[in-house]
Amino acid sequence: MTVHFPFQNSYSALPDSFFARVAPTPVAAPRLIKLNRSLALQLGLDPDLLETPEGAAILAGKTVPEGADPIAMAYAGHQFGHFVPQLGDGRAILLGEVIDKDGVRRDIQLKGSGPTPFSRRGDGRAALGPVLREYIVSEAMFALGIPTTRSLAAVITGEHVIRETALPGAVLTRVAASHIRVGTFQFFAARRDTEAVRRLADHVIVRHYPELRDVERPYHALLAGVVARQANLVARWLLVGFIHGVMNTDNSSISGETIDYGPCAFMDAYNPSQVFSSIDEMGRYAYANQPRIALWNLTRLAECLLPLFSDEQEKAVADAQDILGGFSDQFSAAYQAGLRRKVGLFTERDGDEALIQDLLDAMAKNQADFTLTFRKLGDAAFDDSADARAQFMEPAAFDEWAGRWRARIALEQQGATGRQAAMHAVNPMFIPRNHRVEAVIQAAVNDDNYAPFEELVKVLAKPFEDQPAYAAYADPPLPDQRVLQTFCGT
Ligand code: AMP
Ligand code: MG
Repeated sequence: MTVHFPFQNSYSALPDSFFARVAPTPVAAPRLIKLNRSLALQLGLDPDLLETPEGAAILAGKTVPEGADPIAMAYAGHQFGHFVPQLGDGRAILLGEVIDKDGVRRDIQLKGSGPTPFSRRGDGRAALGPVLREYIVSEAMFALGIPTTRSLAAVITGEHVIRETALPGAVLTRVAASHIRVGTFQFFAARRDTEAVRRLADHVIVRHYPELRDVERPYHALLAGVVARQANLVARWLLVGFIHGVMNTDNSSISGETIDYGPCAFMDAYNPSQVFSSIDEMGRYAYANQPRIALWNLTRLAECLLPLFSDEQEKAVADAQDILGGFSDQFSAAYQAGLRRKVGLFTERDGDEALIQDLLDAMAKNQADFTLTFRKLGDAAFDDSADARAQFMEPAAFDEWAGRWRARIALEQQGATGRQAAMHAVNPMFIPRNHRVEAVIQAAVNDDNYAPFEELVKVLAKPFEDQPAYAAYADPPLPDQRVLQTFCGT
């Protein structure tokens, strides 16, 4: 039996300027590290066959499956605010698209599969550490219910990649609603190729926003649609303490998924100005800056779409500003609604927003663990405040706030059981803590030991369940375990 991928490729049918046709570069000795069996089934693929040597060879880019039309996608992008007119898939190759069990078209892409015409000075390869990190964090995000690309498989190539030292090479199979980015639009807009921008917009509407196909002003509606999804996405990030780390326009997805897990991280102690990425020296992509940056990226998208809005530039700009003006309210609505759920409020009253902000302020001042404070607040709904207050350097700060919170929840019908259950359903017990991710990577890279990786992935698949046997995974790092910086590792 051979592995069958039911490809139905649409992107590679677009004009030649959209991509470069290029096959993955064969590797020495592929070995499957991890297959996401449930995702394989969801994609209509046979997990047993993918686990054979033939399957591993495909997932490593050593053989190209039938029906694939391998391409590297063209895109541009603002990196840390500086425009680069040509980036493109320098180390990723789109094998093709399949329609999943829910009827959703999904890209299957190999990341780390060798050089492409967009590689510039890069080697087209990925190291094992960043591949495992992306696998862990993207699947954790999925389990948290946050829109994200997913990870189908990780293989090691049997070759070394040279970074600061020689590291084991690996390939990640990434699955996405699409890999179309703000930077994809920028690629054509920078070349003043309005027809290509229109082609791309039409493709995106059919694929990601089919409900807009017959509206009066589809390109305006497209911008509004991306604004709405990004506003919601960034709110979801903040509500779990996620920091993307490299919100460049080429890492900003048009479908509204989280994409490109580089130096991303979840914060432990709550700190709005938290930055982990070693390359983000100015804190451009700090935790609390993410909504502002999302809007900045969307503004770059709007600039690309202006020629489709109107021939009169002033009119087009006014329309775009109008649509972008909606971002802030949409973000706030999603963020505030999420915060209300996190603190167990079912109704809305004056003063709620200030009450919640007071908690966040106290958390910041007391270096309270973001995840555990909210998780344990669910138990405090039962008068069991010990674990919640223990998160605060000065527990009195929690007590003062909790008194006001109790008075507030007493005004609601909901009893303690329902409140605790509702809070536990939105406040995870388990997030991919940086020190855990690092430990897993060290075991794999240094000792070829994947048992810690397997266990972490398993725990993170059920983030809202208590899982007492794995309670230690919920713990914040001890002072000497703290990860202060994360690296792209590209
Ligand atoms: P990233 O930081 O992963 O978002 O990548 C930014 C750009 O650099 C994209 O165009 C990538 O394709 C390219 N790139 C990153 N790493 C490599 C590599 N090892 N080889 C070639 N291109 C790369
Ligand atoms: Mg990228």
